[in-house]
Amino acid sequence: DVFPGDFSENPMQRNTPKVLFSTVNPVGFNNPELIVFNEKLSEEIGLGKFNEVDINFLTATNLPENIKTYATAYAGHQFGNWAGQLGDGRAILAGEITNETGEKNEIQWKGAGATPYSRHADGRAVLRSSVREYLMSEAMHHLGIPTTRALSLSFTGENVVRDIMYSGNPQEEKGAVIIRTAESFLRFGHFELMSAQKEINTLIDLADFTIENYFKDIKSEGEQKYKEFFTEVCKRTADLMVEWFRVGFVHGVMNTDNMSILGLTIDYGPYSMLDEYDLNFTPNTTDLPGRRYAFGKQGQISQWNLWQLANALFPIIKDEKFLEDTLNNYGNYFWETHDQMLCRKFGFDDLKKDDDEFFTNWQALMQELQFDYTLFFNQLEKLDENSDFKTLFSTVSYGFLEDSKVKKLEHFLLSYQLRLKENTVSKEESLNLMRETNPKFILRNYLLYECIEEINNGKTEMLEKLTQALENPYKEVFPEFSVKRPSDYDDVSGCSMLS
Ligand code: AMP
Ligand code: MG
Ligand code: MG
Repeated sequence: DVFPGDFSENPMQRNTPKVLFSTVNPVGFNNPELIVFNEKLSEEIGLGKFNEVDINFLTATNLPENIKTYATAYAGHQFGNWAGQLGDGRAILAGEITNETGEKNEIQWKGAGATPYSRHADGRAVLRSSVREYLMSEAMHHLGIPTTRALSLSFTGENVVRDIMYSGNPQEEKGAVIIRTAESFLRFGHFELMSAQKEINTLIDLADFTIENYFKDIKSEGEQKYKEFFTEVCKRTADLMVEWFRVGFVHGVMNTDNMSILGLTIDYGPYSMLDEYDLNFTPNTTDLPGRRYAFGKQGQISQWNLWQLANALFPIIKDEKFLEDTLNNYGNYFWETHDQMLCRKFGFDDLKKDDDEFFTNWQALMQELQFDYTLFFNQLEKLDENSDFKTLFSTVSYGFLEDSKVKKLEHFLLSYQLRLKENTVSKEESLNLMRETNPKFILRNYLLYECIEEINNGKTEMLEKLTQALENPYKEVFPEFSVKRPSDYDDVSGCSMLS
């Protein structure tokens, strides 16, 4: 039977053994209002222009007959602990759409009402979190990083009550719905659920389906097929982590239910881009004091998550040695890819033997000086023989640059200039490498904060400006966005209030 989609009518969590989904009807809204529609994405996925769509579709208020809506069940490890069955608690799927070239995308609403997997929550989303997901997922896409995408953002016309940071003082906030799209929303947690429930036939079906549809290069059969699948998931996950390190993205909640089996960035919650470089930085205030999901731990944690996936796949890959070797190899592959990435950030045409020492020194320096991560590399591009180091880098420093710090910086930059001389490519080619690797624009938390305030007050100028900036992240479209976080926003950088 179809779940009504209204929390008050059925507040119980539903256990759904043997199936991965339940049909559910979105609640629908009386006065929905569009905030922004991503026309380019709409055309890309084959949905057409906005006048062919409409607000009642975008908010799941009124849907064509042929759309059967559903929510999926998954499980997961949250903050290192087995959490059992979870599932799409505020996401409802519409199925797939196929574009002219045959590419398929899943479409889902986030915030369109409760599902059988909402546990004791309402299935609604607030404007804040919806704007953050809409903009950041698009920003990641334009940075060239695998991610789910965002098609539209709308007001639901109703308010939602939230107790921000458990203050004991719940507030009403404007409700919103986004539509997000992805080739697939399958997570590690879907595999974990089937395995934990010992539904091995469904686990096999799920693995076969996933491989057939999203890992088309795998042609083997039997256990070998699943081995190649696991190897490829490890590779995609490592590649994604390296990309997060490249731009300074901190996910904030890397639970296994938030890990995409396709290696996409998924579930934009209390994420943050790095302002000042700090390996211990976590934007998630519920992750203190452990800092499990801190910036510098994302490589390690992704490996831990892959161990959980390996456990889940064990019934179909009964080769402990293979699984262990693959996971142990993960670290090597990760660091190799990571160093190649840093190489490009510094404009080196090739990784040299002593580069790991150079990178280690750089990391220690950054951890101590806590320069702005993005701006540091932008300034590095301007460095030449005659540069005054202190002047060049004081603009990217959040604290006072004492002489002792300038000395260390100078020492490092001299070693950098020496290392650059080992390049076999021209200065211009080296600079081009840096320009295509180091973004000029990142979607900082304080910018999102200002944008959300504006939309809340009925204005969309900032939204339009940020959209333009994030679509061209390797250019400086608005110089006013290429500065470090203003000091009046010092406490916004790591604040879960924004998620
Ligand atoms: P997250 O930490 O955002 O990945 O969410 C963990 C689990 O809680 C997922 O199963 C979500 O679907 C569910 N969840 C989060 N927020 C809500 C909400 N407002 N209503 C229902 N379920 C939710
Ligand atoms: Mg989630
Ligand atoms: Mg979430």
